Amino acid sequence: MTGAKPKVVVLGSSFAGLTTARYIREHAGDAVDLVVVDRNPYLTFVPNVQMEVLADRDPLESMLLDTPKIHAKDGNTFLNADVVSLDPDARRIDIVPSDRPGAAPESLGYDYLVIALGNRLAYDQIEGFGEHGDTVSSGYYGNKLRRRLAGYKGGPIAIGSARFHQGLQDKPDWLPVGLAACEGPPLELGLAMAHWLGEHHLGDAHRITLFTPAEMIAEDAGEPIVTPFLAMAAKRGFGYLNKTEDVTRLTAEGIEFRSGASLEAEIKIVIPDWVPHPFLVELSITDERGFVLTDRSMRSTTHPEVFAVGDAAAITVPKLGSLGHQQAQIAARQVAIDVGALGADEAGPDYHPEILCFGDNGGHQGFYIYSDTWYGGQRSVFKMGHAPYAMKLAFKEMYFRTGGKPPSFGVPATHLLMDHFPGE
Ligand SMILES: Cc1cc2nc3c(=O)[nH]c(=O)nc-3n(C[C@H](O)[C@H](O)[C@H](O)COP(=O)(O)OP(=O)(O)OC[C@H]3O[C@@H](n4cnc5c(N)ncnc54)[C@H](O)[C@@H]3O)c2cc1C
Repeated sequence: MTGAKPKVVVLGSSFAGLTTARYIREHAGDAVDLVVVDRNPYLTFVPNVQMEVLADRDPLESMLLDTPKIHAKDGNTFLNADVVSLDPDARRIDIVPSDRPGAAPESLGYDYLVIALGNRLAYDQIEGFGEHGDTVSSGYYGNKLRRRLAGYKGGPIAIGSARFHQGLQDKPDWLPVGLAACEGPPLELGLAMAHWLGEHHLGDAHRITLFTPAEMIAEDAGEPIVTPFLAMAAKRGFGYLNKTEDVTRLTAEGIEFRSGASLEAEIKIVIPDWVPHPFLVELSITDERGFVLTDRSMRSTTHPEVFAVGDAAAITVPKLGSLGHQQAQIAARQVAIDVGALGADEAGPDYHPEILCFGDNGGHQGFYIYSDTWYGGQRSVFKMGHAPYAMKLAFKEMYFRTGGKPPSFGVPATHLLMDHFPGE
């Protein structure tokens, strides 16, 4: 042990890291020293950024959650610093304070480590993205798209994903291979953008083409959901281009794909590849891409004192915040068991992924997807209407009010309400 109490370090304080830290404190109480490291003293509520953009509101004003306050209340030490390297054999993390350039590096030791650092959203790998590309994954990019929409001339709009490169080393058999990291966002952007065009008397879905590197867009939602969705989209006039393989270049005129296909587009909205942080590549705890290898209790397969949750974990596919939330609760219990605060019989269920997604369709309408067919299960629920939209808004409110720790009735209550909601 590095001190009187076991020292637990959580790297990352977004959806996965914040929730893990909060549950470790709940289960382990004063039995641990808990240090949380994140370069940003806030969490960006990424899933709702598009709603702010299309309502022409600044997401920086409404989508940032002040996380240091939450950690202070829980008695955690919050360090706003960049993680620059990690040595799991020496149990050492190198950090550099992130609030002002020129800060000197420091090192941290740990008894238990939770890696919740997400990934790089690799827009920098797409030629021409800086000048011609748009997205909704941050306040910065949300505001950039607002400016683009303000100058929109009524041309074609292309929305879709670059190719995701999943790690295949030691991939469990139950985990499929995804060619796109997260395709709920292109679906909801497409629907909401069609509504935005109508509202601004600029056209409708006929202006929009959805594209995917895969055989089928949002394949992780399962064929029983996506096939009728595509039929509905075609009826409304959306264009659709699959098997693009990857995005190679954006130009003023459009998008070029690895397949050789191209799309003419005035606005090009791209969800990029999710690429692990460089300092995680070639470590003994990661796969050939740099995703952290864990078992279903989110524990490293080589270093039992290390856990990974959220997008940084190899078994998080697709890269969904709801999966990170489930994993955070699992990892927190494991840490509490290891430090003796919970009994071994209190581990709770292992990680069993399900796709749970609320989308914004525009016009105060939304969709709800709850499915595990991609993982071989039988569950497949897809509903549209005002209620899913209200739930999407309500979840953000609940998340902010509870500081990333929604009450345990939240998920079961959601399913109870939404699975029985007749749809509109
Ligand atoms: C446009 C879009 C819409 C989405 N919509 C949904 C949705 O509706 N539902 C859903 O479930 N999921 C959605 N997702 C996916 C979801 O955003 C991610 O799965 C989720 O954010 C992952 O959480 P995380 O905590 O693992 O990683 P992140 O959210 O990426 O957080 C990583 C944290 O680590 C910090 N960090 C990173 N590197 C360092 C470093 N070197 N040093 C210090 N700190 C560092 C970051 O500041 C950040 O706080 C969406 C994603 C996008 C892009």
